[in-house]
Amino acid sequence: MSEEVLKIENLHVYYGSIHALKGISLKVEKGQIVTLIGANGAGKTTTLQAITNLVRKREGRVFLNGKDITHMPTHGIVNNGVALVPEGRRIFPNLTVYENLMMGAYARTDQDGLKSDLEWVLTLFPRLRERLKQLGGTLSGGEQQMLAVARGLMSKPKLLMLDEPSLGLAPLLVKEVFEIIQKIRQEGVTILLVEQNAFAALKIADYGYVLETGRIVLEDAGSSLLGNDNVRKAYLGIATE
Ligand code: ATP
Repeated sequence: MSEEVLKIENLHVYYGSIHALKGISLKVEKGQIVTLIGANGAGKTTTLQAITNLVRKREGRVFLNGKDITHMPTHGIVNNGVALVPEGRRIFPNLTVYENLMMGAYARTDQDGLKSDLEWVLTLFPRLRERLKQLGGTLSGGEQQMLAVARGLMSKPKLLMLDEPSLGLAPLLVKEVFEIIQKIRQEGVTILLVEQNAFAALKIADYGYVLETGRIVLEDAGSSLLGNDNVRKAYLGIATE
């Protein structure tokens, strides 16, 4: 039987008089990669921020493994197993790679578990292992993105939410980031992936939602959306007859 890790019902968010989310509902099942795609300003980041209570919801409910977390403070949501890797590689430039990773595990007290998770994360990201003592700010753009994702994993999340992990990366690195996302899923982490790179995201996603100006206009299996004429025209830049 499927198990819902995340379920969102009818989320509404306003920025002043701007109605940014107009009733978003979606779900992420255990072990899945679910992607939320859409153009600039569609409301992708706002959705992730509304889930984690970084912005206020006017209406709607959020459930994590069946538990109502609609009004739970952000740190509580993190402690309940949600990690958000924000857009723009917000790592700490003046801390080493090791220190950055440890910041991702600040809420943890189990030293043994922490050690084995660091080992797990460094196996997934061997390039970070070679650079543990290097300052975060001196890493390349791609490496900083890897570090941001790796830091998210240090809290051993049940649900990893990634906000545009491929943004600003060269094509080769984009490929690498998406390969790593698949690897993370194989390790048993459920993933909600927000992307403007619809093609790459839909290729690895079990299920996808298309967001347009605050509304979900289409949802289907990733492979079906990849073959959908409207999606191909609007988001994949592919001309259809
Ligand atoms: P992008 O891909 O460009 O990051 P997005 O899909 O993540 O876009 P959001 O950042 O969620 O979109 O923005 C949704 C809408 O809400 C946009 O119209 C944006 O201008 C507006 N918005 C976002 N944050 C704020 C804010 N702090 N104050 C006012 N309006 C905001």
